Amino acid sequence: MKGVERRLLGCVPRWVTVVLGVLAAGQGVLVVVQAELLVRAVAGLDAGPLPWLAGAVAGRAALAWVVTVVAGRAAARVKRGLREGLLAVPGAGPSGAGSPGGRVTLLTRGLDAVDPFFTGYVPQLLAACVVPVVVLARLVSVDWASAVVVAVTVPLVPVFGALVGMRTAAVTVRQWESLRRLGGHFRDVVAGLSTLRAFGRAEHQSGVVRRLADGHRRASVRALRVAFLSSLVLELVCALSVALVAVPVGLRLLEGRMALSAGLLVLVLTPEVYLPLRALGQRFHASAEGVAAAEEAFAVLDTSAGSPVVGSAGGRVVAGGAPEIVLRDVTVRYPGSREAALSGVSLRVAAGERVAVAGPSGAGKSTLLLVLAGLVRPESGRVLVDGVDLADLDLEAWRARLGWVPQRPHLFAASVADNIRLGDPGAGDARVVEAARAAGAAEFVAGLPEGYATVLGEGGAGLSAGQRQRVAVARAYLAGGDVMLLDEPTARLDLRSERLLVDAAVRLLEGRTAVLVAHRTALLGVADRVVRLEGGRVAGEVARGEVAA
Ligand code: ADP
Ligand code: MG
Repeated sequence: MKGVERRLLGCVPRWVTVVLGVLAAGQGVLVVVQAELLVRAVAGLDAGPLPWLAGAVAGRAALAWVVTVVAGRAAARVKRGLREGLLAVPGAGPSGAGSPGGRVTLLTRGLDAVDPFFTGYVPQLLAACVVPVVVLARLVSVDWASAVVVAVTVPLVPVFGALVGMRTAAVTVRQWESLRRLGGHFRDVVAGLSTLRAFGRAEHQSGVVRRLADGHRRASVRALRVAFLSSLVLELVCALSVALVAVPVGLRLLEGRMALSAGLLVLVLTPEVYLPLRALGQRFHASAEGVAAAEEAFAVLDTSAGSPVVGSAGGRVVAGGAPEIVLRDVTVRYPGSREAALSGVSLRVAAGERVAVAGPSGAGKSTLLLVLAGLVRPESGRVLVDGVDLADLDLEAWRARLGWVPQRPHLFAASVADNIRLGDPGAGDARVVEAARAAGAAEFVAGLPEGYATVLGEGGAGLSAGQRQRVAVARAYLAGGDVMLLDEPTARLDLRSERLLVDAAVRLLEGRTAVLVAHRTALLGVADRVVRLEGGRVAGEVARGEVAA
């Protein structure tokens, strides 16, 4: 058994294991009872036991139903745990399950594939451990010679099963791999469809998707073929083993050295010993895809152990009012990269001060804001808010004090008003309009077909970049925190939009502690001080106005 399977089995709650074990024992007993009743009816040509026989069959069905309910509960619980864990892991890494597409496949379809492991494999594993022992015990008391043959041949089933299983594992891993690659690629293509069309590469991409889909189809068929062949091997082993018991029993019956009822009981019970083991092989194949998916989920969860996201709660809550923010020797390194994104950055932003951060692309400006927002944890160094380390702060409360205008704000496919209201879900219409006015957005919103009720497209489609930025500023304005973080809000705007946004920023930053990433002089003019970052280090402070675009 591989480590992943052991770890998945470890996820099964103890009470489930106990209940399933007891149910398996019950099934073993019912198998024996059923065989005894059948033999009594056949050998004695007696219809008396038939109602009891029907009862035994119904009992087995009822037990099987309880097993699926219990195992289904366990599966749902384990999947929920894995999904919550995966969702908490920040997206990182260039490929594999770390890439958004791969992660989406894993979170949805991938983890659903774990179901057969818990509803099929786990109960069958317990049945395979318990039922043969119960049945074999009865066989010993009927005819020890047959019992010896069965006891010797039974271990052959798991041995052959393991041999075949090794081969299957490799094939299913490949199948899962190709499904994930398909999912990841498909998501990328859909996200970039307009770009691809513009460059006339859409046709080419549909060819690539077709080729990947073809590869996945072939891998699936290969996995199926191996699964069918392997179950054939197990059938054969079981059939031969049953024959080894049946032939001597038949001969002894012919020679009159064995009672008919005893012989029949042996013949009915013998296949029941092999049945759970044979079924285990099938269940194993059915769950192989889920095991491969779980392996990937565990890998993502393990590598994220030292993840950059800070998610602590229950820390200190510092009273409101524009705070002083101090960075001391802050170094940040993203997982998987050798270069530090920030190295030894020290910076003091006084209460109510507005500091602009300038520098070339890749200098670490956005990273600096992420650190301040508590979204990235520094490798070393400290961030102090009014003298309290960010690591000790209650981050939910800290983020509630933040206004955040990212470089590319995400707008949702909802009305303009609802998009602004994201800053404060309880805000009434009047406050939404006030925020829009402060952000310089009121004018263009009035020009939209349905004003504030206009529903935007996915990602804010229907608005220009500048309009989107101003909706984001309105959002931050409504949130009304006393710390503002702005990440190059004017980077791709025309002059008029830029002027409107700068005016909005002046109103937004009034009386607040602010850090704004800025390139262009207009926005830099809003700041009290400009700090220049280069290659993750503070390259010096520049007086306002000296920094050209
Ligand atoms: P800026 O905003 O100044 O352009 P960033 O803070 O975005 O710079 O990036 C600083 C450095 O960190 C760059 O070298 C960038 O490649 C790297 N970086 C940024 N985000 C990530 C990430 N999620 N994973 C790995 N490296 C990253
Ligand atoms: Mg940036």
